[in-house]
Amino acid sequence: MGILSRYGRFFPISPGSPRLDLGEGNTPLVRLGRLEELLEVQLWAKVEGANPTGSFKDRGMVLAVSKAMEEGARGVICASTGNTSASAAAYASAGGLSCSVLLPSGKVAKGKVAQALIYGAKVVAVKGSFDDALKLVREMAPQLGLKVVNSVNPMRLKGQMSGAFEICDQLKDSPDWLAIPVGNAGNITAYWAGFMRYLREGLIRKVPAMVGFQAEGASPMVSGTFVDSPNTVATAIRIGKPVNASKARWAVKISGGFFEAVSDREILEAQMRLARCGIFAEPASCAPLAGLFKLKSQGRLPKGIKVVMVLTGNGLKDLETPLGMAGDLLEVEADQDAIREVLG
Ligand SMILES: *Cc1c(COP(=O)(O)O)cnc(C)c1O
Repeated sequence: MGILSRYGRFFPISPGSPRLDLGEGNTPLVRLGRLEELLEVQLWAKVEGANPTGSFKDRGMVLAVSKAMEEGARGVICASTGNTSASAAAYASAGGLSCSVLLPSGKVAKGKVAQALIYGAKVVAVKGSFDDALKLVREMAPQLGLKVVNSVNPMRLKGQMSGAFEICDQLKDSPDWLAIPVGNAGNITAYWAGFMRYLREGLIRKVPAMVGFQAEGASPMVSGTFVDSPNTVATAIRIGKPVNASKARWAVKISGGFFEAVSDREILEAQMRLARCGIFAEPASCAPLAGLFKLKSQGRLPKGIKVVMVLTGNGLKDLETPLGMAGDLLEVEADQDAIREVLG
């Protein structure tokens, strides 16, 4: 059962509204015991790669596309670093709408492009950045009669609040910190709004500090200035002009959180650490763990606090980056001795 059924009362939908459902949400909250020892905190991972298209984008997309159907749109359009397009394409197909996608050429993980194509989207690679693609989408959508389903669409952030609801329901409490990667800064804003909603309903007693992590080569929220040519292996957060920057800044400030940047090397190390705990998350998703280790080494990670990291996307979407770090496979004859030799 998807989030529109489970959390419908928190969303602007009426009994007669179209409700798409691919079983999104209800993702695992996994305790990471071995990393807890190293970091001296209580640590959980919210595994958003377990969503239908392999990223948290499904939480917002199910609502955005359902509302587009209710409004009578014939199709949706988005700019994407990859996961938005995969999700938009899946939900548009489920709802019988067309889906058009503008991607920054050469900057999107292959698995995500494959998803968008297989789910049936029209995919256009634009020779420019994500920010250029989004500008074009926003300018052209009205002429084309298509609904924009980027996180400028308020339904996206409303649906994404469900991640915060689930964490509180699963922990039966709110954490002290929510550690989350930041690209367009929509998800961090949505989580904060979700926690605020639960606070107002009396379901939790405090809102966690929102701690946002960016890649050094794409860290406008940390530096305070937009970046013209963002660059990082974490393609999902390769964004120089976050559309939700001001809302996110507000959420982080009043929750008592902060933004921090991590290097690509730290991100890839964190990806390996997570993999060794049995969780394969894409590079962008590993920025928070990289950040926790960085803060720990600088004496800035308070001991004993409860931290939930949002692992935003599934590692299988982007195989090229991590395979460079993993060991090679061993090929031998179909022979016991040969196998015994390589297995040691
Ligand atoms: C979209 C995305 C992000 C960034 O989320 P924003 O809402 O743009 O800040 C992070 N990680 C993954 C895997 C994503 O797909």
